[in-house]
Amino acid sequence: AAKRKGRDTLALYEPAMDREARERRDLESDLREALSRGELRVHYQPVIDLDTAETTGYEALLRWHHPHRGLIGPNEFLDLAETTGLILPIGEWVIRQALAETAPWTGDFRIAINLSPTQVRSPQLVSQVAQAIHASGIDPGRIEFEITEHVLMQEGKRVPETLARLRELGTRIALDDFGTGYSSLSYLRRFPFDRIKIDRKFVEHVVEDNDSQAIVSSITRLADALGMSSTAEGIETREQLDLLRKLGCQEAQGFLICKPAPAETFATPEAVEAALTDHGPDVVDYRK
Ligand code: C2E
Ligand code: MG
Ligand code: MG
Ligand code: MG
Repeated sequence: AAKRKGRDTLALYEPAMDREARERRDLESDLREALSRGELRVHYQPVIDLDTAETTGYEALLRWHHPHRGLIGPNEFLDLAETTGLILPIGEWVIRQALAETAPWTGDFRIAINLSPTQVRSPQLVSQVAQAIHASGIDPGRIEFEITEHVLMQEGKRVPETLARLRELGTRIALDDFGTGYSSLSYLRRFPFDRIKIDRKFVEHVVEDNDSQAIVSSITRLADALGMSSTAEGIETREQLDLLRKLGCQEAQGFLICKPAPAETFATPEAVEAALTDHGPDVVDYRK
């Protein structure tokens, strides 16, 4: 408590840059302890089939119950985790936790787990995944790893080799945030992805913007032609959902359907039903 008070007193006189540096240091030392203190959680967001409205999968999304700041999302600490290497133990924990936590759920669904560049570069990743599969007893065909272009931008053979070895374990690989980088198309040739996830940026304006519509329908046709599935991210309105289905997108996730939520929200069919229909009459209608 004395230390805490000292920090706060200092903050009154510190120049902004010093304060930012200090806050970053504090966050880093907090993050170092977060795992052992049990402050990390995995939340899950359902992914639905746009034709049947069935839940086809759940994306695992990391959360941190920070002792002073409350619940914080990965955008606030992933860069730090990445540059400090803390993403390695944290990422391994996410994989184990997501598989263990969802193993008792009933139904036929995928579980999607995000992997950062440092994780995919790690020589331990494949054996960690193999161990987590073994420990949870999950069918590896139900696991899908999501990677972004940042993972693929790395030189050398390690990344494609690691992805191929994950595939050999039976897991699938999705290309996340598709269309946001510099050369998304060229990456599609380098690795046989199972799925393209269309970035929220294109979904956001799809209803009123013809260019977004053209881009989304091109991506869905491209995915089809390459034998890949397509999922649209960030569906917030019924209009977006209807239009994405018309534009040929197979699956979708977004706040309209369900926000990311803790595991217990999806642990039984009744709980899932309640969670999915909680978000407005539009979704209830849609699912009939
Ligand atoms: P992502 O993989 O593209 O995940 C989708 C993000 O969009 C999530 O943000 C999700 O909460 C958010 N989202 C979903 N539907 C909507 C919507 O309708 N509207 C809006 N505005 N947002 C929506 P989140 O959970 O903050 O995660 C951010 C990013 O952090 C993820 O982007 C992913 O790249 C990374 N990440 C999350 N969990 C993990 C993890 O366990 N390991 C690693 N390496 N990265 C993770
Ligand atoms: Mg993702
Ligand atoms: Mg994404
Ligand atoms: Mg993203």
